[in-house]
Amino acid sequence: MHFHGPVVRPKSEIGSLIIEVTAGCSHNACTFCNFYRDTPLMAAPLSQIEEDLQEAKAKLPEVKRIWAAGGDPFMLDWERQIAVWDLMKKYFPDAYISTYGTVNDVNRKTAEEIRQIREHGLSDLVIGVESGDDEVLNFVNKGYTSQDILEAGRKLDEAELTYRIIYLGGMAGRGKLVESARRSAGIINQIHPVSMTMTNVAIFPGTKLEDQRNSGEWLEPTELERMKEIRELIADLKNPITVDTATPSSSLYLTAALPEEREAALKRLDQLIGGFNDKLEEKLARRRENMDYI
Ligand code: SF4
Repeated sequence: MHFHGPVVRPKSEIGSLIIEVTAGCSHNACTFCNFYRDTPLMAAPLSQIEEDLQEAKAKLPEVKRIWAAGGDPFMLDWERQIAVWDLMKKYFPDAYISTYGTVNDVNRKTAEEIRQIREHGLSDLVIGVESGDDEVLNFVNKGYTSQDILEAGRKLDEAELTYRIIYLGGMAGRGKLVESARRSAGIINQIHPVSMTMTNVAIFPGTKLEDQRNSGEWLEPTELERMKEIRELIADLKNPITVDTATPSSSLYLTAALPEEREAALKRLDQLIGGFNDKLEEKLARRRENMDYI
C-alpha cells in the first residue's frame, strides 16, 4: 500500500479499507492545524490506486467500507473523481465509500457534477466546516465564509450526496463561545448534514494558534465554557442531525440523534454544567494541554 503522508480519518472509518487518493491538504493554512504541514500536495496516480485495490482485494475480498484518504480528495475535479470511484467499485462493488472535502472543493463544482460523482460511487463526504461564525472562520483562516458554507450545503443537498460535518468547539475564544454557537446553528439550520462531530480545539505545537495564544491575541476558553457551547448548539439545531462529541479532544462523550434525543442530552449537560467545579476544570484543562495531535 502506498502512503505519502499522515492518514487522518474520522472514527467512523476505524474498520475501513484505507486507500490513498491524495496526500496533503489543498488549503493547508488553518491556524490551528498541523496535520499536513510537512506533506507536499499530490494526487495519487490511478495506477497506484489500482495497485493498492488489487493488493487489498487479494487479502480482504469482503471489504464493505473504503476511506479515500488524503486531506481533501474532493479537491480533484469531477472527471478525475469519477475515474477513482469507478476503479474502487470495480474491485469492491458493494463498498460504502467516504472521503474528506472542503467547502471550497464543493463550491468549485456544479450540483450536476456532484451528482455524477455520487452516481459513480462516492457514498458520502466529510467536511470540516469548523464553525458557521464568520468571525471564527476569518480568524482561523479557513478561506471561506458562512455564505460559502450555505452554498456548499445547498449544492450537496441538490445533488443528494450525503454529507457529515465537523465543528471545532472553543475556537471563538474566551467569553465568545455561546454567541458563536448561536451564529453557527443559524447557518447549519439552513442545510442538511446527516451528522455533526463536535471536536474541541487544543493547541498543537508549531501552529499559528500557539503563537496567538502565547501572545494573548487569542484567549483559550475554559472547559466549562466549552460545555456551554455544546449545550447551545444542541439546543439550537433544528433539522434532524446526529451530534457526536466523542473525539479525543473532547471532555464530554455524548451522542444524540436530534430532535428526538435533545431533551435527554440537554439534561445531561445541565447536570454536568451545574456540578462543574475548579478541580474538574483544572483536570480537564491539564489533559487538553498535553495533546500534541489527534
Ligand atoms: S484543518 Fe483541514 S482544511 Fe485546514 S489545513 Fe488542516 S486539513 Fe487543511
